[in-house]
Amino acid sequence: MLYDVVIAGGGPIGLACGLAAKAAGLQYLILEKGCLVNSLYNYPLNMTFFSTSEKLEIGGVPFVSNNAKPTRPEALEYYRRVAVSARLNIQLREKVTGIRQQNDHHIVTTEHHAYHTKNVVLATGFYDLPYQMHVPGEELPKVTHYYKDPHFYALQHVLVVGANNSAVDAALETWRKGAQVTMVIREGEIGKRVKYWAKPDIENRIAEGSIRAFFHSTIAEIQEKSVVLNTPEGSVEIPNDYVIAMTGYQPDFTLLQQTGITLSDDEVKQPSYNPATMETNVPGIFLAGVVCGGLNTHVWFIENSREHADLIVRAILRKEDQRGALL
Ligand code: FAD
Repeated sequence: MLYDVVIAGGGPIGLACGLAAKAAGLQYLILEKGCLVNSLYNYPLNMTFFSTSEKLEIGGVPFVSNNAKPTRPEALEYYRRVAVSARLNIQLREKVTGIRQQNDHHIVTTEHHAYHTKNVVLATGFYDLPYQMHVPGEELPKVTHYYKDPHFYALQHVLVVGANNSAVDAALETWRKGAQVTMVIREGEIGKRVKYWAKPDIENRIAEGSIRAFFHSTIAEIQEKSVVLNTPEGSVEIPNDYVIAMTGYQPDFTLLQQTGITLSDDEVKQPSYNPATMETNVPGIFLAGVVCGGLNTHVWFIENSREHADLIVRAILRKEDQRGALL
């Protein structure tokens, strides 16, 4: 079988691409290496989105949530319901491992199969590769880059690394469940993009001394029962049971590079694509969602990248028309 489009990634934007392809009558398949909306599944259990629910909608399906800003469980319900009711053609737990060109089409390979397709969409997101801190002790089991649930940390000494949304949520939640929380922050302040309701909360907790924060500071070493910090006042050792390293994530560029997509050679590694069609420099290979920003992972999110789906499907339909006209 020759698909019109194979979509790598079953996140919100991969699903949006599937919905748009289905609505246009294209033969499509979504391949997802984990569970449905795998990245969202791995977000903190109680997280609240900064977007209102209607801005997270895909395929024009209304997203009803209890409050204006939905929670992770509500988002999981929503995207599952959308995928099931639309009967999206999706294979879960099937990782795309390679893409190669054969004559006028592409072959997408996974651990199990090879799929032939005229077009490929890479909507592979950014949540699989955390930025490492490169400090001694980072490999200890008490260090995590994926914070899930505060209860686990009750009555423990917790070090939270970072000062953006994920770090602030982890610090506030674990402190509210009785952890003794210290933050270590490279910069001199809490991140400017922190949710407007969380920023004063964390700043007040730090000001009153409930949560201790070391600004302009980094980790020197993580040990079994303590951490050593480099601070402007010199080296400080504090007791520690767990390190929650909210140091951010980066896209996996392996597939992009393998297919010949050009990445800028500066620190952003911006993939090359036409913003009007989302087609990359490799004909028939498109990008969608957060992966479009290279290492600038804050540029594209669900709210502003769900429109990639329509751009891509319109471009594929135009190509089909041109192909038809030539025949
Ligand atoms: P992802 O959701 O990351 O989906 C990519 C999918 O591809 C994953 O399921 C992954 O398993 C799969 N995949 C990767 N590699 C392969 C492969 N080789 N083969 C097959 N499958 C593969 N955005 C908003 O708009 N509003 C918000 O309020 C908001 N809040 C956020 C809160 C947190 C804590 C975080 C971390 C992010 C938030 N974002 C928000 C950002 C948003 O979640 C991402 O931008 C969004 O997930 C992008 O969707 P995506 O489909 O491009 O990527």
